[in-house]
This record gives sequence, structure tokens and C-alpha cells, in this order.
Amino acid sequence: MPTFVRTDKCDGCKGQDRTACMYICPHDLMKLDKDGSETGHAMKSFNQEPDQCWECYACVKICPQNAIEARPYADIVPLGASVQPLRGTDSIIWSIKFRNGTEKRFKFPIRTTPEGSIDPYAGKPEADFAKIADVGFFVQHNGFREGDPSELIAK
Ligand code: SF4
Ligand code: SF4
Repeated sequence: MPTFVRTDKCDGCKGQDRTACMYICPHDLMKLDKDGSETGHAMKSFNQEPDQCWECYACVKICPQNAIEARPYADIVPLGASVQPLRGTDSIIWSIKFRNGTEKRFKFPIRTTPEGSIDPYAGKPEADFAKIADVGFFVQHNGFREGDPSELIAK
């Protein structure tokens, strides 16, 4: 049950070659139909392989026009209901619409540091490519430890 694009809202990311939804999709599913030859809607994006969609909601969250909606499985969102996120710089609001028309909104903080401030490699050693084939190449100096079989849950 994939995503779909609201053509009344999508602005094709204002003609960018790579739209926000194309950039973020981990499965490379979103595509901009520049001339409308594929969907009949020029400069609108669409999910080109709906059966491959993970429903990860990445495109739904990143779309600046709030133009993408998902149709998840009926046990999560029964017919007529919807789940729509609206992402801000420090929080996300989930708008939940129930089948009976009831609407609820939930707001959650999404970060503890200023946007753009994270350096994922801070404090990590420079990569030594001579050790590229070593086990634990990157993590061995940063908390990596050998596995302990006694910690396995055996049934
Ligand atoms: S991110 Fe949103 S506005 Fe941009 S092309 Fe995709 S659906 Fe359209
Ligand atoms: S929900 Fe995830 S997998 Fe599906 S189109 Fe959007 S980004 Fe891609």
C-alpha cells in the first residue's frame, strides 16, 4: 500500500532536476514526470513502482508541499482514515484522522541539537585504508567488543 502524490499540491520542487522525494527515497521509487508523458501530469512526481514501496514515510515527511500521502495496510489505517506527518525543524506533527471523522494531532520533538550541527565523525580516528579488510575497521576503536555467545537467547 504505497505512497501517492496529490497533484493539486505537488509543485515538482519548482523544477529541480532531483526533487526532495527523489533525493530521500531509499528505494529510488519517486520520479518527476517532467512532460506529463507518463502520468498525464507534467512537473508532478509519482511513485513509479508502488509495489516496491516500503511505506517508510521518508518522502511523506520531506515533501515541502505536504503533497505525498501513504495508504498503509488496512490494519494500521483502515479505509477512510489517514496519517499525515508535518515536519518542522525541531518537531513533527502527526495528524491522525479516524474513520469516524475524529481528528487528533500529536507533536513530538525530533532533535536535541541544533539543525545542521551534528558531525557524525567527530572524535573518530582517521580511516586507515591499509586496514580496509580488518574486522571492525571503523568501530573497533569506538566501543566495538567481541560477541559473547552467552548473551544469545537460545530456544
Ligand atoms: S517532494 Fe513533494 S513537491 Fe517535491 S516533487 Fe516530490 S511530491 Fe512534488
Ligand atoms: S514511503 Fe519510502 S519507500 Fe515509499 S516512496 Fe516514499 S521514500 Fe520511497
